[in-house]
Amino acid sequence: MKTVTDYFGCDVFSASVMKERLPAEVYAEFQRTLDTGHRLNIDVANVIANAMKDWAIEKGATHYTHWFQPLTGITAEKHDSFITSKKDGRVIMEFSGKELIQGEPDASSFPSGGLRATFEARGYTAWDPTSFAFIKNGVLCIPTAFCSYGGEALDKKTPLLRSMEAINKQTLRILKLFGHDDVVAVKTTVGPEQEYFLIDKDVFHKRKDLVYTGRTLFGAMPPKGQELDDHYFGAIKPRVQAFMKSVDEELWRLGVLAKTEHNEAAPAQHELAPIFTTTNIATDHNQITMEVMQKCAKEHGMICLLHEKPFAGVNGSGKHNNWSISTSTGANLLEPGETPAENAQFLLFLCAVIKAVDDYQDLLRISIASAGNDHRLGAQEAPPAIVSMFLGEELTSILEAIEKDEDIDNREKELLKVGVHVLPRFPKDTTDRNRTSPFAFTGNKFEFRMLGSSASVAGPNTTLNTAVAEVLSQFADELENTSDFEGTLHQLIKKVIKNHKRIIFNGNGYDDAWVKEAEGRGLLNLKTTPDCLPYMLHKKNVDLYEKHKVYSETEIKAHYEIKNEKYCKYLNIEVLTMIEMAKKDILPCVSRNIHELADTVISKRSISESIDTSYELSLVEKLSELSAKAYSDVNSLEALSKEVKTIEESDAAAMFYKNNIIPVMNSLRASVDEMETLCSSEHWCYPSYGDLLFSVR
Ligand code: ADP
Ligand code: MG
Repeated sequence: MKTVTDYFGCDVFSASVMKERLPAEVYAEFQRTLDTGHRLNIDVANVIANAMKDWAIEKGATHYTHWFQPLTGITAEKHDSFITSKKDGRVIMEFSGKELIQGEPDASSFPSGGLRATFEARGYTAWDPTSFAFIKNGVLCIPTAFCSYGGEALDKKTPLLRSMEAINKQTLRILKLFGHDDVVAVKTTVGPEQEYFLIDKDVFHKRKDLVYTGRTLFGAMPPKGQELDDHYFGAIKPRVQAFMKSVDEELWRLGVLAKTEHNEAAPAQHELAPIFTTTNIATDHNQITMEVMQKCAKEHGMICLLHEKPFAGVNGSGKHNNWSISTSTGANLLEPGETPAENAQFLLFLCAVIKAVDDYQDLLRISIASAGNDHRLGAQEAPPAIVSMFLGEELTSILEAIEKDEDIDNREKELLKVGVHVLPRFPKDTTDRNRTSPFAFTGNKFEFRMLGSSASVAGPNTTLNTAVAEVLSQFADELENTSDFEGTLHQLIKKVIKNHKRIIFNGNGYDDAWVKEAEGRGLLNLKTTPDCLPYMLHKKNVDLYEKHKVYSETEIKAHYEIKNEKYCKYLNIEVLTMIEMAKKDILPCVSRNIHELADTVISKRSISESIDTSYELSLVEKLSELSAKAYSDVNSLEALSKEVKTIEESDAAAMFYKNNIIPVMNSLRASVDEMETLCSSEHWCYPSYGDLLFSVR
């Protein structure tokens, strides 16, 4: 039997495969391209393409695709076969350097927010050589970035790569000041923990809402939910275990470092976490992970739900984005050091993240905003929509001491100069206790916990990288121009703590008191997607992205459009699904139930006028009242969904959904859910929450 180490990464055209298959000078040239970020020259690309093709064909591949992440949030691929026809009617298998480096898919159906004029439907895909090609379902997949004819980003990958460039540049400036001339590059690292639900395929297909929208739009709570806490870390069911095994095997073949799996808090909810890696690769790998999970679930007769909130009243699913910065010499810049100088450097990076999160709360909030995630944030299960940071008592008290120039060890003040000879190491378990914080320091990395389970991690990391790059550039400006490095550094750290400590909150983020306190501190509380999106266009934010060349103003406007449009489209589908379910299934079922009850009353009375009919009558009355209310909401929804189509601006339409349509959807749901508890099981047309959540046995 093959062991994991034998087959790990066997479907990846990795550095080691390249080293083995490419002439030494070509491989060296490729490495240089990776190190310097320069464009690959076409002769080198031709040799690589040919080797890649031979390798792929040996592995049974017949097609290749430029695999990219358009702004829809999922990955896209168009398959081309390697065949080229010959004059004699035969074919040969060919793949050129040009085809490797650049592709030209017809991009007209991908969202572009007006970036690509309709007459110029073409988009370009360009290989990201830092993310290796791989074979998936017999197709050679080449990870690429996707741009318009004018070079504007039409995908999530391009801005991410630009943001990595920005943070690399600014971090190197800082590291130089600390004497680290040996560091040639800095990369951010990410380990995204992925939550999901598994439900049985048969019950899934009986729910139109799950099929069309990925979440239940109706559904009363079952007698048993997650209150017993008996699922979290509980024994994994054999069927789920078998699924996880297939997922692992497939991911390992693709070089994805799948590491931890366990049951999550809600029934049917699970989590998969990989070992962290460089951010752009982690992003690709997370997309692959979601795809593989969905595919394997089907093979095991189940459906993997990635929606942020498939079930009301039960925990939703998020994605914890563990993030750090690591150097080409192998140092983690968010790891507290052993020596005073290392600690000063650590504190500076820590302060950079603190200031970045405070200055760009709005952008971080926007980066995780979606119609689906709106159901999660602020509920008693996910961080609130308020962005704050958890540092732990220990680190916070050190920062307080620095701010006040106190000596925490009661030693001489002098000892504290340059931030702290006395900085202790932070055992991970003292820093990772608070699970309610949106942005928590966990010993040697930050965990950004607001991400929704279905979204790509590209956006949040683009924002985080850029915001931190900006603060580091401000720090570098100050520190490069001083004759007293230590003094300036100390003052800088003090100033940041003083001005930005409002963002630090170590308490319970689920507590209502926090909402009040946060307001007092002047922190933003942007509850929904339409509330936060307009902040994207604020000058400070446009300036940030432009300065670091991550998004141009045109791109920001386009992305703003797309985010609003996407929100509206999701809601439109939800509204139409609700209307269809209510009109075609739910209301007719309730009527039949009423009819049966009324018939019973008549039959009973035909036997004797004195027989008690109070049970049937009260149900008839209650169900009639609720169905009339539901019917009126359905009519309102129909009218409102026509009205929203007349609103031209997508942001105004998004606001209309939020203010005018969602309340009616909620009202309709309330009536329907109550009717579900009153109707006989025989008359209810959909599998219940109980049927769904406990469907995998
Ligand atoms: P938890 O208690 O949250 O499950 P773990 O220590 O298991 O914490 O880590 C969670 C995730 O954080 C894993 O995916 C891990 O690979 C990732 N991680 C660890 N160190 C780093 C780092 N330096 N940069 C980015 N991610 C990291
Ligand atoms: Mg975690």
